[in-house]
Amino acid sequence: MFCFHCQKEDHSLNDCKDFLAFDFDHRKTFLRENRICFNCLETTNHIAKKCDQKKPECATCAQRHATALHDPQRHPSEPKADTKCTRVRGSHQTTKSYAKIVLVWLRHPFVPDREVLTYAQLDDQSTAVLVKESVFERLGIEASPTNIKVSTVLSKDQLIASYRVRDLEVSGSLGMTS
Ligand SMILES: [Zn+2]
Ligand SMILES: [Zn+2]
Ligand SMILES: [Zn+2]
Repeated sequence: MFCFHCQKEDHSLNDCKDFLAFDFDHRKTFLRENRICFNCLETTNHIAKKCDQKKPECATCAQRHATALHDPQRHPSEPKADTKCTRVRGSHQTTKSYAKIVLVWLRHPFVPDREVLTYAQLDDQSTAVLVKESVFERLGIEASPTNIKVSTVLSKDQLIASYRVRDLEVSGSLGMTS
């Protein structure tokens, strides 16, 4: 056991109160400039990639990094409160996105003569448009099913079967085209 900050052998950087009191940038710079292994913090003879110690568990947030390298910006000890907002989460995506529900005209290039007026959920973070199955029946096209989770004021995390389709032409009555 060795603390590079105090130059003492009775504790490590991970439980050095003086060192942990520095902000994250300072601690990281210190380790980098002294070429200390980011993984075990015990040596300057190797880098973290070559370290044969298993990954440390942070005493502050329990994630896989050294306590001395805990970044409160990236790993707050207390989870942030959920934003109260309509939230749509596709089954294949892990990021949260916020849905806009709009009234749109839908048309598919395969059946250009058929148009359907419907409510659609527009996903901000992708180009996907999620609409109900009945719409595709009315349009006479096929789409792949996907489950979306919707939280509204009335119900939390309700699962709604939706369908994802490509090449759908959407023209909004709000002057919006995509
Ligand atoms: Zn120390
Ligand atoms: Zn190491
Ligand atoms: Zn941490």
